Amino acid sequence: MNGPLMSVGTLTKKFLHAALFYEIWDAMKVTFKHMFHKPITFQYPREQRALPDTHRGALGLLRYDDGRERCVGCDLCEAACPSRCIKVLSAEDPERPLQRYATEFYIDITKCVFCGYCVEACPVNALAMTKMYEFSTHDKRTLLFDKKRLYDIGERHLDDAKKYLYAHNQEKNLEESREYRYYFPQSVVKPTQSAPKHLS
Ligand code: SF4
Ligand code: SF4
Repeated sequence: MNGPLMSVGTLTKKFLHAALFYEIWDAMKVTFKHMFHKPITFQYPREQRALPDTHRGALGLLRYDDGRERCVGCDLCEAACPSRCIKVLSAEDPERPLQRYATEFYIDITKCVFCGYCVEACPVNALAMTKMYEFSTHDKRTLLFDKKRLYDIGERHLDDAKKYLYAHNQEKNLEESREYRYYFPQSVVKPTQSAPKHLS
């Protein structure tokens, strides 16, 4: 007796759902609910997100405030790079005997994994990462950044590059920061075990 009655009830329900477009109203309920929420979608490229100072974007080379190139062509960034995408050629600076500078500097950005090791390895904070990330192109040969382009990036994004170095504790936000200084990240400075006797 119950069976046929339930079937009639189910059939009526189905008929009413179909006649009143129940599924559509059900879906619209979700849509209406979200109309009153603050949207979290950014309308890129018209709207852009504020990136943190630690953001690892394109690399740039930096100069001292007097315009002198910071890079001394020591090759440490090249040695630290796990992707082998840095090439530095150096020579003695004719104007400053015994001092060297990079005659050529290349970074193949197509191979870069944006790990930041090269920035950490640089003893004079000549390299920094910036918040620049819009450099997509149809010709990947243009992604072999040479010395001029790297200094251009460093100049255009100097504020962000400095913020990156401050954020990574590699350069203090002080007047003397123009001078040679290098700070390891805090986690490395803190000793995890006591030094061996012959070193203490
Ligand atoms: S960020 Fe990493 S992969 Fe890219 S150039 Fe520097 S060391 Fe190499
Ligand atoms: S960027 Fe820094 S680590 Fe690399 S060659 Fe120049 S001074 Fe040396």
